[in-house]
This record gives sequence, structure tokens and C-alpha cells, in this order.
Amino acid sequence: VEEALRQSQKMEAVGQLTGGIAHDFNNMLAAVIGPLDLLASRIGNDDPRARRYIDTAIDGASRAAQLTQRLLAFARRQPLQPVALDVNRLVAGMRDLLAHSLGASIQLETVPAEAVWRTHVDANQLENVILNLAVNARDAMPGGGRLTIATANCDIESDAADAQGLSPGQYVRISVSDTGSGMPPEVMAQAFDPFFTTKQIGKGTGLGLSQVYGFLKQSAGHVRLRSVVGRGTVVDLYLPRLADGADAPLPRLADAAAPPR
Ligand code: ADP
Repeated sequence: VEEALRQSQKMEAVGQLTGGIAHDFNNMLAAVIGPLDLLASRIGNDDPRARRYIDTAIDGASRAAQLTQRLLAFARRQPLQPVALDVNRLVAGMRDLLAHSLGASIQLETVPAEAVWRTHVDANQLENVILNLAVNARDAMPGGGRLTIATANCDIESDAADAQGLSPGQYVRISVSDTGSGMPPEVMAQAFDPFFTTKQIGKGTGLGLSQVYGFLKQSAGHVRLRSVVGRGTVVDLYLPRLADGADAPLPRLADAAAPPR
């Protein structure tokens, strides 16, 4: 509990700071990108070399804008729009995007629960979270490997709740596992800290997992890490199971039941 409190206070402080900076920075970037776009359309293809310079500048500024979007999301300036959704369907719908992001050397396997209850979350942000985890998994498997996304229904009894930092209740669990490098204990201990990264400058922002943490907390859920050096990492996402009239499990989807490719 103390650890969770420390983490959320840290997130709060960094969130406020980065949120403020990101907001102002975003406005400044708009002041750069707008005129560059105008200039690009003015030049058209009359001067290919000038056009190339401008396109490069637009490209760089757009990447900076993407980073500020991530910072704003992290600082929770973007309100959540929760909807009732079936996680099996969401994961099945992400297969192509995930396979593309993972590349050919990583095998993607989805293991949908026989029947899974619905949860109530922001679908776009959950997709972002899963994509974030997949990219982390990819980075941990430079020589290739396997990424598995499994869903399950999970009831947390009160005793078990304390040990896992979870409130007792009924959850839908999404587990993202890789066969990568794993994390030593000192990395595990800091993995959720904002701006903590072991990646090269320009490759990692250190915001991925802290964003995942923030999103799960905000969605009344929980995230848990399990990792063994040299064997791989499992990230378990617990989302509250939708209660009202949704007791009946959804039938297994035909597309979600397709055997792993
Ligand atoms: P970033 O990916 O930008 O470094 P994250 O917050 O997503 O930021 O991750 C923080 C650190 O946690 C990573 O730099 C890496 O050391 C470690 N990490 C995260 N996911 C994994 C994983 N699947 N396998 C091994 N290490 C991981």
C-alpha cells in the first residue's frame, strides 16, 4: 500500500510538471508546423530540394508533437471515454497492427478465454497500452521470440487481494507475455517510474509503463509485472468486470478462436 502511494504521488508530481510543459510546448509546435505546411503547399514541387528540407522539418516537428501527445496522455489531460467492451474482440481486432509492429522474427499468439466477461474502459487507450507492451516486448527480443496475449476471468478473494495490491472483486485479466531478456530486480523496482528507461537516448522515453500504470489505476484496475532474467516477462492487466446485467459471459468469438498463426 505504501509503495502504491509513493508511486501515485510520484506520478502526480511528474504528471503536473510534464502536463504543463507539454501543453505549452504543443502550442509552440502548432506555431511551427502551421507555417511549414503553408510553405510546403506554396512551394509544391517547384523546388524539390527546398521541399525536401521542409518535409524533413515537418517530419521532425510532427514527431515532437507525438511525444507531447504522449506526455499529455500521461499527465491525464486527456479524459477517458469508457465503453463496455469485450477484450477478446479488442485483442483479435489488434492482430494485424501487432503483427506489423512486432516484425517477422516474433511470433504472435493470442489465447482468448473460452468466454470472457465485459469490462468498462476507454478502448483507444487500452489499445495504446497493449501496443506499448508489445513494443516493449519486441525491444526485449532482439533475436526474435514469441509474444502471447491471453485473456481470462479472474476472481480476487480478499486474502489474495493484499498480496497483489488488488482490491477484491471480479476482474477480466489480459496477460501479455514475452520470451525476451526479462528484467533484473533493480529494473523491475523502477520499471513503472516515469522517465525510467534502460534504452538508448531517442529509443525509449521511459513513459510507457508509467502510462500503463496510470491508465489501469484510473480505470479502477491494476497492473502486475512478473519477470525472470533470460526467460521473459509477463504483464498482467486487471480490469474490473462489468457488473450490470453482464453476468452472462459472452460466447467465444469465431475470429478470436482462430488457431494461432
Ligand atoms: P521505455 O520502453 O521507453 O524504456 P517503459 O516505461 O515502457 O519505457 O519501460 C521502462 C523499462 O522497463 C525499459 O527501459 C526496460 O528496461 C524495462 N522493460 C519494460 N518492458 C520490458 C519487457 N517486456 N522485457 C524486459 N524489460 C522491459
